Amino acid sequence: MAKAEETVLEIDLQALDHNYRYLRSKLRPETKFMAVVKAYAYGSDSVAIAKRLEHLGADYFAVAYVNEGITLREGGITAPILVLHPQKVHFKTLIENHLEPSIYSKAILSGFIATAKELGETDYPIQLKFNTGLNRLGFSASELLEVSTLIQQQSAVKVTALLSHLAATEDANEIDFTTLQLQRFNTICKKADTLFKNRTLKHVLNTSGIINYAQAQYDMVRSGIGLYGYGNQPEIDTELRPVMTLKTIISQKHIIEKGESVGYNRKYKSDYKTVTATLPLGHADGIGREYGRGKTYVLIHGKLAPIIGNVCMDMIMVDVTNIECEEGDEVEIFGKNLSANQFAETAQTITYEILTGLSQRIKRVLIN
Ligand SMILES: *Cc1c(COP(=O)(O)O)cnc(C)c1O
Repeated sequence: MAKAEETVLEIDLQALDHNYRYLRSKLRPETKFMAVVKAYAYGSDSVAIAKRLEHLGADYFAVAYVNEGITLREGGITAPILVLHPQKVHFKTLIENHLEPSIYSKAILSGFIATAKELGETDYPIQLKFNTGLNRLGFSASELLEVSTLIQQQSAVKVTALLSHLAATEDANEIDFTTLQLQRFNTICKKADTLFKNRTLKHVLNTSGIINYAQAQYDMVRSGIGLYGYGNQPEIDTELRPVMTLKTIISQKHIIEKGESVGYNRKYKSDYKTVTATLPLGHADGIGREYGRGKTYVLIHGKLAPIIGNVCMDMIMVDVTNIECEEGDEVEIFGKNLSANQFAETAQTITYEILTGLSQRIKRVLIN
């Protein structure tokens, strides 16, 4: 592991291997694994992550939008790719890139059938998404008959899978609701099996679903956050390894006399002689202003240094009064030694947000 010389996001592929194997160990051997690599693989590098996972045996990939699927195809990924949230305007390119749409409404279904016909497709694979209580995207159970009739009347597309998404798999207070969602999905699946001539795959679990509701794994699971090393529960976090470590270096140190201020709008005022270190990353890199003003810490030589004053666009300042350090020394923002989950919690947000918000201007470095 090379010492950082600028701000870098280190991506540890061996940690990814470990997390993949850990999640797989919770499943039956025949259950398929759909790796969720939307949003640059949760802020990392979707092609590098997908290539490694394809090699490890991931069966399917999922992205949110068509352009993300195209990036994977251009990067050489040949496994099937589900597009979770496609829009009509991209149907043609979706088909040209052999991506599978998650179809969630009648308008999207008829639009997609029309495009598939125009392109002369037969049996083009599509998946049907059902709303079982998240109330975000998906057909309602009452639309199943109509949808299946529409599909049997044509041959341009065929349904390969049925899916739904759960609202609160990580929340022990919502077991009743999750159970209700799973029952609703099961009812839809049973009815669909009587309506569709071909057998369809069923999938409903995300990472916390795999951990807490493995009995509902059906034919496939969809995991994102767990692959990157976070399990939404402390006891699972200890089993997983963070794939991403955000590192930087100290650009400059300053000695701030008592009564002086640091940064924009003078939001840090020293009531003691303070030594500060300025770091080359800021809110343009994804470290928002909510991390400033003493709430959040970074790690320097194993010690916690609070971010003081307002976070700037390209810089943050930290208090290193009690830390022996020099200009050029390495700083861990979060990752291996300081969990991204803990970092996110200091700003009342979640690991998903801090990871996926990391700007593309941060250099990505693959290790292992
Ligand atoms: C993002 C997403 C997932 C992955 O969820 P994790 O909690 O990261 O495992 C699975 N399914 C759908 C529909 C998603 O949008």
